[in-house]
Amino acid sequence: MNYFLPDSQDLVDPSFDFTKENRSADRVRHRDDRYAHEVFATRAFDGVLVSKAIVDGTGGAGQARYTQAQRRRLLREGVRTFFRADLHRWGPLAFMGDCGAFTYIKAETPPYTVDEVIEFYDRCGFDYGISVDHVIREFRPQWDSDLCVGSEHAAPASLRARQQLTLDLAGEFFAKIQRGRLRVVPVGIAQGWGPRSYAHATAVLQKIGYRYIALGGVVALKTPDILRCLAEIHAIRRPDTRLHLLGVTRLTQLAAFAAYGVVSFDSTSPLRQAFMDDRNNYHTLDRAYSAVRVPQVDGNFRLAARVRSGEVDQDVARAAERRCLRALAEYDAGARRRLAPVLDALRAYERIHDGRTDRTEVYREVLEAAPWKRCPCEVCKQLGHHVVLFRGAERNRRRGFHNVWTFYQRLARGLAAGPQVGDDARAPARPPS
Ligand SMILES: [Zn+2]
Repeated sequence: MNYFLPDSQDLVDPSFDFTKENRSADRVRHRDDRYAHEVFATRAFDGVLVSKAIVDGTGGAGQARYTQAQRRRLLREGVRTFFRADLHRWGPLAFMGDCGAFTYIKAETPPYTVDEVIEFYDRCGFDYGISVDHVIREFRPQWDSDLCVGSEHAAPASLRARQQLTLDLAGEFFAKIQRGRLRVVPVGIAQGWGPRSYAHATAVLQKIGYRYIALGGVVALKTPDILRCLAEIHAIRRPDTRLHLLGVTRLTQLAAFAAYGVVSFDSTSPLRQAFMDDRNNYHTLDRAYSAVRVPQVDGNFRLAARVRSGEVDQDVARAAERRCLRALAEYDAGARRRLAPVLDALRAYERIHDGRTDRTEVYREVLEAAPWKRCPCEVCKQLGHHVVLFRGAERNRRRGFHNVWTFYQRLARGLAAGPQVGDDARAPARPPS
């Protein structure tokens, strides 16, 4: 099962000093910052999924986007050079392109022509290119019955039209790639609202000629619903047709997925849960822990606003913040055996930055277990306890990288995801800084 990590230009600055909290003055972001695949010595994913919408910056607020300079460089250099993935120490990294259809879900039709998308894939040198699609978000298996067209039990005409449009575009996409003898492997995308409609789309795509088919619109589906779709598809799937699950957040039952011909999937969940999830921020092979919130008085948007409004005294907040950082550092260094003073410091600061919640018990759990001490990954070895601090993009993103690396270890062991991992983070893709 191949795991693709969706790109949202998540990089970390190797010059960042976690004790002094400053960075090198000479740092040039695009030259010096590091992708996840440049941080770990051993493989953490098999490929990268790059969305045209993110590259073009057409996504909505909160979505990652490329700068004009990055976009030009990607088109000029191609994905492999842009991502510094040539001759990578992990061995080959595959690059898959898609349109990022969630960004235009509300539009009548996709904002790109098939020609534009093919040109994008070809110029960037993608290994795999997903056909132009229009997402169907609704999942209503009861609409699958063909007998009820026109009745309230039939899928709305607008959804049927979306599915048909996606199939028409897939036909045009496949034909043009064949005719142009392009290197990119075309991946057809199936959209549906229930098992039978997904199977219908898959059958049409196979007839067009696709042998690699992505199931779209499954982001929010529960595992049993994905399995129902796969079972229905199984009845018509050619033995040589491979499946990709596009953007799954629930990562259980991967062995069952594999049995139905799923060879790959992509997910930002392990990365995003590091800073989007309320609780499951730091993943280990068998569970997830909460990160410890020590927001920066000066860098945290919400806290800074409350300081400005006079609600929070800046000096008091800063003193409480510093006390937390000191107590945590001493605790990790082994100078303090007792956890109580650390938890007291965290609670005192929490009363200032988040009066509604008392996280003492989840903090006790993660600090007592100190899971970073047992993690062999580069991030944990370098950061120590800083990896579990919910504080600023440099820590939060590295914790996300650790989660991705850990997730890949789970995959390799056939563990997939545990019950706590993969069920919550579905928000947009930008880490808070
Ligand atoms: Zn780690």
